[in-house]
Amino acid sequence: MKYNLFFPLFLFSLSLYLWGCEQEPITDPGQPAALHAAFAEFDTNHITVYLDGEEVVVESNGLPNHPSPYWSNTTERCTTDPRGQSLCTNSNTTENHPLFVEPVVTSYEAMAPGNIDDFNGSYTLRVPASPSRASSSTSTGLGPIGIAVSGAMIYNDEEGPNVPLDNAIVSLDYTGAHTGPQSYHYHLEPKAWSNDDDKLIGLMADGFFLYGRKCYSTGTYPTDLDESGGHTSTTQHNADGEYHYHIQNETYLNQYYILFPGNYQGTPNAIQ
Ligand SMILES: [Zn+2]
Ligand SMILES: [Zn+2]
Repeated sequence: MKYNLFFPLFLFSLSLYLWGCEQEPITDPGQPAALHAAFAEFDTNHITVYLDGEEVVVESNGLPNHPSPYWSNTTERCTTDPRGQSLCTNSNTTENHPLFVEPVVTSYEAMAPGNIDDFNGSYTLRVPASPSRASSSTSTGLGPIGIAVSGAMIYNDEEGPNVPLDNAIVSLDYTGAHTGPQSYHYHLEPKAWSNDDDKLIGLMADGFFLYGRKCYSTGTYPTDLDESGGHTSTTQHNADGEYHYHIQNETYLNQYYILFPGNYQGTPNAIQ
């Protein structure tokens, strides 16, 4: 009788399976740190992330993975630099980059010089795999202060030495970014992938993650943020909770959301 043999075997297998499901995962404190789950959101076509001992290394080609009017295109635009020299972009370009879109929020006249694909370099950031808050905060500087999940860089609320962003706001594209003396970078909420939500924006230079205006832990705007826009709660990437930043839900010039206007709460490392 087939049934008599099969059924007890089936019960035995089932009990083994259920027993296996009840076992707690074994955590060995001696094991090397695992790569944080949030890094799965970083675009692997642009960014490489790996562990090196107790540190995480993030390398990016500096190019965003989304459309922008700052990709090379056939419309020439010229500006005059502070020394009175004319600086033209696209003067010899014969076809549009596949990711090029017409400027809507900005205009050819207002756009900053240079194209996204003029940049031919890379950025590297090395942070502790388990960052901690420092005893005092540190102000951000000009240049990259974080690496976005798209591949491009995160900047603060200044456009030059003591030049507020106000002067350059007209040159920002639909996703709050532009080129400039350096590569394409975001100053404002990056609408290309985050618009009034809890999406991951990127990794800041102190090793903490930056999220959109809402927090996954409550589904709405956090009310317990410190002066850097940070707090400790669960995230979609860490059910145990951890310190992280948010884009603060406070308008700038009545309509924009600055990505990161405050200080680092951890110890920043250079992005170079
Ligand atoms: Zn800028
Ligand atoms: Zn949060």
